[in-house]
Amino acid sequence: MISVNEALSKIEIHKQTAVPVKRHITQCLGYVIAEDIFSLIDMPPFRQSAMDGYAVNHDQSNTYKLIGEIKAGDPADIILKKNEAVRIFTGASVPNTANAVIMQEKIDVTNTLISSQEIPKNEQNIRPKGEQIKKNTLALTKNTTLTPTNLSFLASLGFDELLVYPKPKVGIVITGSELITPGTPLAPGKIYESNSILLSTTLQNEQINDFTVYKVKDDYQSTEDLLKKVINENDFVLVSGGISVGDYDFVGKALEKIGVTEIFYKIKQKPGKPLFFGKKDTTYVFALPGNPASALTCFYIYALPLLRNFSHCEKIHLTKKVKKISHNYEVKGIRAQFLKAKITNEFVEVLDLQSSAMIHGFNEANALVFITENTNFIKKLQEVEVILLPKK
Ligand code: AMP
Ligand code: MG
Repeated sequence: MISVNEALSKIEIHKQTAVPVKRHITQCLGYVIAEDIFSLIDMPPFRQSAMDGYAVNHDQSNTYKLIGEIKAGDPADIILKKNEAVRIFTGASVPNTANAVIMQEKIDVTNTLISSQEIPKNEQNIRPKGEQIKKNTLALTKNTTLTPTNLSFLASLGFDELLVYPKPKVGIVITGSELITPGTPLAPGKIYESNSILLSTTLQNEQINDFTVYKVKDDYQSTEDLLKKVINENDFVLVSGGISVGDYDFVGKALEKIGVTEIFYKIKQKPGKPLFFGKKDTTYVFALPGNPASALTCFYIYALPLLRNFSHCEKIHLTKKVKKISHNYEVKGIRAQFLKAKITNEFVEVLDLQSSAMIHGFNEANALVFITENTNFIKKLQEVEVILLPKK
């Protein structure tokens, strides 16, 4: 058995970032861009009307002859002489010979003559070419996580494919003969299977959508056969259950038989003592304890950093802070602990429902309090390390 810190340093050693790939821009939300992007165009690409109104070639006059119309999307090939105007609309290209756009609310029209209530200022209501960004200048810096606004900015510059770090392909293997799929009637001795929802939706919160869920009963051969296939097909495998020491826990034996190299097995921690971490070829395997709260805690502390690192996320660990505990707390046992807790301002409260079988405790929690090995008592207002849970 190793300590939490030893386990974390082994995780650190195994950080691996995937090779960047091209993806269509519509499929890039939440991905990290792998190159600096320089604009290939001026944006806007031409002098653009910012108003519905009239483009004029003014010369200290406020009466103009109307000679045509330019809609959004039209070329601006009309030539305006002094004191001539064209009807123009927002987004339309302004002719080179126009030096202002007057909004339509300020114009009176009589047949082909228009008059303005005021003499326009030069270049008013015209968005200059390249106002937003100039050709060949930096549009987006390498390693930025793509958001709706920076994706739409790149789309506005004409980019349809981006070089990004891929997200991992994840296989989720659920073990347990007692498990029944929600929506079907419970039978004696059975419980509803919930870890597949827990793990797959937690992955989706991380914008990891390329996952497949597999289920297997507590049977050695089926477990080995399934694990072999899933390890072959994925970058990461998250196994739920069957990794402890019971007679029907077959995951450890199957992983060994398949040739998965153990990096660690068992950590001096609560919850999640039987966590296994190993590697076969380029695939990492986390065998998480079946108890839901243990599975999630182990996922957040050990699996998430490697999953995030694969996609070159800047921040791979959950944020740590120091807070004052709002009550005395008597620690049971000598293992390090991750306790479900709630932070309010500068205080943190350890919640009830700490059992590793109870996912319910996570519903109220926004953090985990980390308690080091061999701590037996924490005094009210003592400072403790807290790990912020991701937003729900
Ligand atoms: P195990 O790690 O397989 O010994 O399972 C530990 C506990 O977690 C048992 O009470 C299981 O019934 C429960 N458990 C295991 N897998 C799941 C699952 N996918 N959904 C809900 N509970 C589970
Ligand atoms: Mg089991």
